[in-house]
Amino acid sequence: MPVHASPRAARALLHPREIRSGGRAVTDDVRRDCPLAVLLDRDGTLCIDVPYNGDPSRVVPMPGALSALEALRHAGVATAVVSNQSGIARGLHTAAQTEAVNAQLDALIGPLGPFFYCPHLADAGCRCRKPRPGMVHDAAAALGVDTADCVVIGHNAADLGAAAAAGARAVLVPTEMTRPEEIDEARRTAAVAPDLLTAVSLILSGALPVRRDAGTAGTAGRDAA
Ligand SMILES: [Mg+2]
Ligand SMILES: [Zn+2]
Repeated sequence: MPVHASPRAARALLHPREIRSGGRAVTDDVRRDCPLAVLLDRDGTLCIDVPYNGDPSRVVPMPGALSALEALRHAGVATAVVSNQSGIARGLHTAAQTEAVNAQLDALIGPLGPFFYCPHLADAGCRCRKPRPGMVHDAAAALGVDTADCVVIGHNAADLGAAAAAGARAVLVPTEMTRPEEIDEARRTAAVAPDLLTAVSLILSGALPVRRDAGTAGTAGRDAA
């Protein structure tokens, strides 16, 4: 099981459609092409990637991250964080340090919704480590939505693969660590945006294409974090 730790757990108890409507239940005016939830990678997507970071003081949000999250909250789109944290299994930082980093990020740009992280090594065979779909399934369940109504935002093939394997859509926001073939894959099977705010604008516009590889698993991601 991935670890689930939410600084704002109470928010996740609201159904996203109730959040969207300010507490009044609505069913008919929800646009099918606007996702009910956005699931965000942490390192390299929401914050600068500091490898195996266990120090909250080193958390720096990515450019535009606060504006992007504010736009999602304004639109009533629920969010969650899905993050590989094999540094825990490697003994490089503790789960408590991971949760302190999560809390600091949440304080800077949150509320981000529930945090899910995989503490396992790549060869552990767990269900949660991206590109496996376990955290996408668990985050969707925690938010009360179907994975088909989720969009994953990340920066590498592991993020794309987890989304594809769970039947969610994805937007790739490349960093300097993203390989050209990962960008090519995203152009074929998902979407690419130059920064987080543009990715969110694309999602909220309703213009994100449906999965072009529906029914197939994505390619295996590299051994990220
Ligand atoms: Mg990452
Ligand atoms: Zn795992």
